[in-house]
Amino acid sequence: MEIERLETFSKRNVSFVRVHTSDGDVGLGQIAPYNADISAQVFHRQVTPHALGRNPLEIGALVDDVVEAEYKFPWSYVCRALAGLDTALWDLRGKRQGEPVVSLLGGTPTSHAAYGSSMQREIEPADEAERLARLHDERGYDAFKIRIGSWDSKGDDEDQWPGRTEELVPTVREAIGDDVELFVDANSAYTPERAIEVGEEILAPNDVVHYEEPCPYWELEWTAEVTETLEDVPVTGGEQDTDLAQWRRMVEMNAVDVVQPDVCYVGGIERTLRVAKLAADAGLPCVPHSANHSMVTVFTLHLLGAIDNAGPYFEFSIEDHWAEGLLEPELVVEDGEVEVPIGPGWGVEVDPDWFDTAEYAVSEAD
Ligand SMILES: [Mg+2]
Repeated sequence: MEIERLETFSKRNVSFVRVHTSDGDVGLGQIAPYNADISAQVFHRQVTPHALGRNPLEIGALVDDVVEAEYKFPWSYVCRALAGLDTALWDLRGKRQGEPVVSLLGGTPTSHAAYGSSMQREIEPADEAERLARLHDERGYDAFKIRIGSWDSKGDDEDQWPGRTEELVPTVREAIGDDVELFVDANSAYTPERAIEVGEEILAPNDVVHYEEPCPYWELEWTAEVTETLEDVPVTGGEQDTDLAQWRRMVEMNAVDVVQPDVCYVGGIERTLRVAKLAADAGLPCVPHSANHSMVTVFTLHLLGAIDNAGPYFEFSIEDHWAEGLLEPELVVEDGEVEVPIGPGWGVEVDPDWFDTAEYAVSEAD
């Protein structure tokens, strides 16, 4: 059996991959969201030539061969495209065996607690507090993540909304009560000095248990300094990191307390499992980045069901989004939890109307 045909169905934000084998088996995967139409071009130019004609069940070897062959084009777009191949092959394997991917990975289908992830900084603190308290009551979320600092700071400490972080964190804490976990994300905003100050003066007194990307993520030494200094506030990060050697360095230098690979950015399930293993060997929990709706959340749920160092919560965006109605069944939060889809493979299908209106491209074996 070999990989015979690889198709993409693309729009600007989303691109799905369908793999077909010489045996007539089919698998469905997804390239990383955002500029996905560009990643689809990379997929056909730089990923499919290394995959066509190969054994679809040798996922690890295939993934490594693509990265090695494209070593002059490291990370980002090649890994984003590679995620489409990897996730389509896992679906194919699951459908062949009649099992969900989580079972192939050695786990069991179950539900996972979601943390409600806010994507907004423009929102007023009182309005953010009100909607999180309402979601806690209505959907049962027991954890939320809010955005602190400034989008455009990136280590210069300039704050687009001076005083917002100082007001937001205690306002939300008071509204959601002491029994709900509070996470924050600084999106690379601060210098180490300011990150530590924010941690000690604002986050620790409000029992924040997850301080994401406090410093520009590429300044690993800065993040490590914050992690070492803050004793009461765990530092988390890694969503942008796609180089496994960089991941090894991050873990070895104790840059973060919790690792957050993104299944699609890093290049698929196989490579995410390797990051999770690096973390597990160092005693660190893994809470993948899964802020983007679409199949990323599905991939992440299957993965979390199968790794021993899965963190207690799974990231689930609380914003209205462009993936509404895209998947069947849709993931929903009930009593604060999301069920892993249990059909064979990923257990979800894409709305056929979406495929009909997407840009189509195909690579085939000679
Ligand atoms: Mg983040």
